[in-house]
Amino acid sequence: MKISEQKIEEIRSAVDIVDIISGYVHLRKRGKNFVGLCPFHHEKTPSFTVSGEKQIYHCFGCGAGGNVFKFLMDFKNISFKEAVEEIAEYAGIKIQYEKSELTGIQKELEELYEINVFAARYFVEILNKSPDAEEARLYLKKRNIKPQTQKIFGIGFAPFGWDNFLKAAKDNGIDLNKARALGLIDINEKGEYYDKFRGRIIFPIFSPNGRVIAFGGRILVEGENVAKYLNSPESQIYSKRKSLYGLFHSKEEIRKLDKAILVEGYLDLISLYQAGIKNVVASSGTSLTEEQVQLLSRFTKNVVLLFDADVAGQKASLRSIEILLKQDFDIKIMTLPKGEDPDSFINKFGKEKFEELISSAKDIVEYQTSQYESEGKFNDPSTATMAIREIVKTLALVNDELKRSLLIKSIVKKFGLRERVIEDELKKFLDSQQGKTIPQNLKTTSSNIIYENNISSFADITNISSYEKEIIRLLYSGNENIVEYILEKISPDHFTNPDLKYLVNLVVEGYNDKNISPAYLIDKITNDRLKNFIFKLTMTEEAISQKWDEFSLNGKIEKDSLEYAIETVLNFLIYQIEQEIKSNIKIMENTKDEHLHIELLNRNKELLNEKKILLNQKVKK
Ligand code: ATP
Ligand code: MN
Repeated sequence: MKISEQKIEEIRSAVDIVDIISGYVHLRKRGKNFVGLCPFHHEKTPSFTVSGEKQIYHCFGCGAGGNVFKFLMDFKNISFKEAVEEIAEYAGIKIQYEKSELTGIQKELEELYEINVFAARYFVEILNKSPDAEEARLYLKKRNIKPQTQKIFGIGFAPFGWDNFLKAAKDNGIDLNKARALGLIDINEKGEYYDKFRGRIIFPIFSPNGRVIAFGGRILVEGENVAKYLNSPESQIYSKRKSLYGLFHSKEEIRKLDKAILVEGYLDLISLYQAGIKNVVASSGTSLTEEQVQLLSRFTKNVVLLFDADVAGQKASLRSIEILLKQDFDIKIMTLPKGEDPDSFINKFGKEKFEELISSAKDIVEYQTSQYESEGKFNDPSTATMAIREIVKTLALVNDELKRSLLIKSIVKKFGLRERVIEDELKKFLDSQQGKTIPQNLKTTSSNIIYENNISSFADITNISSYEKEIIRLLYSGNENIVEYILEKISPDHFTNPDLKYLVNLVVEGYNDKNISPAYLIDKITNDRLKNFIFKLTMTEEAISQKWDEFSLNGKIEKDSLEYAIETVLNFLIYQIEQEIKSNIKIMENTKDEHLHIELLNRNKELLNEKKILLNQKVKK
């Protein structure tokens, strides 16, 4: 059941975040904000900051932050819905769930889940009791999957034959059309139903909350004409892109150890779990999707990837790495001996040997360099250059600057290069990506899509002018008059930096939806680095308006007043004009094209005129 966005906002704005957090963290007033010891990491001096004005919190130590719901979710380990309900109760607000068609859909989904539960029970029942499952029981024994483990993962068996499940479903009044939509049965040319899973070990696939959303089925004897695994199709309750096998079972351990081991197969996961390595998730044989990584990021940002010893088949892994890096994950790579997968390894060598491998896992750049080294790429200057370029490409995916510079140092050390060499290469690569993908028209597309498709999204956000920074800060101030005024004068198109474009666009969207409160907007930022950027900008006292003194007409203009915003907008627009004039001059210096020369001269005249008008406005006030 869904709570309307409007209601959620009503609930959020009914309480004061300072009150709520004070119930859990001892807060002291410091300047405009409150500070305390961060409950999300261990610290001795308080860097956990709560802003009553903006209704957000942020820890400058560990980066945690968000609005009041996010705090409760993380602090109590509860879902968004639960957090909203708790605050509603605190505020004495009754939640009406959105009714009408939504409950209709909800009901429909419930029925699908029930059918899957029925099927899962049926398959388990067969595995445990049916004489037809003797071969399956032997197979699992051979694969060393203990009965207790079978129970934990709900493993079952779909019997041989075409209509066993079908009959059971009919007997129990299951809606066959729905069972078909779930991929449990299908219809042949004669219009007769038949079982989809036949003679297969069944692995139920669970949602992170433990609902059965799909099945994977493995044949007992591998043959040429049958697929080893058969999986449920996409359905109303199952999206392959969005689910990670095993997460329901492993999420607590992943959170506890703050690390997830990523494997490919169902049995890899189950065997590791059984051996006591429980912080595992499986991608089910494909490379990770952005949605899966986002899901995982709710539990940890540290991943260990397992690579086969042979080089082939690693394309999928490289794609996974790219997606993980883009979402600011820390990646370690461990290599298994030739011919082994995690399941075979743990059964042959045991838990301790596996843990040794985990602790010897390499970081991504280390891995890549040693890979190229073993291929002899560094023996010849031309292949060495190529190899270094490839490594730099990986580096460019690392958003976190500190992490990036540590990685650069490690390469520099390894190859005795000068740091500048790598930095220059990196800059060259980033520049070549810049501009290539900046979308032309931002206004019509949703900002998240733009952001995710934008390769240059790792452009350097620290390298922006203080005028730009100041505009962004004001846009995230929550002050309606100011935001309205700025959006009248400045659009996302005024920004070339894709990060800033994205951030401004979010405010435009919020403005259109009649909500520009920071607590609401910050929640919509999908990228942690940008979220932190906004936190820093809006919550640190010293970061606030370094330009303020300059603008403030001897301190007469109050910071964060509309007057100040007007002044800032003028300064921003003048700055932009100056930038364009400068860049035009630079082009003129470097071109022999007379036509272009004249065009740019005229353009600069125009710009100077515009600048004059703006300067005039400044003086008038
Ligand atoms: P086993 O140890 O039983 O042979 P595995 O997990 O080692 O299984 P792999 O061939 O390595 O098998 O495949 C890894 C994963 O990829 C599987 O667990 C499954 O999720 C998926 N997969 C493999 N083959 C298929 C297939 N034919 N159709 C759909 N998914 C498949
Ligand atoms: Mn295997």
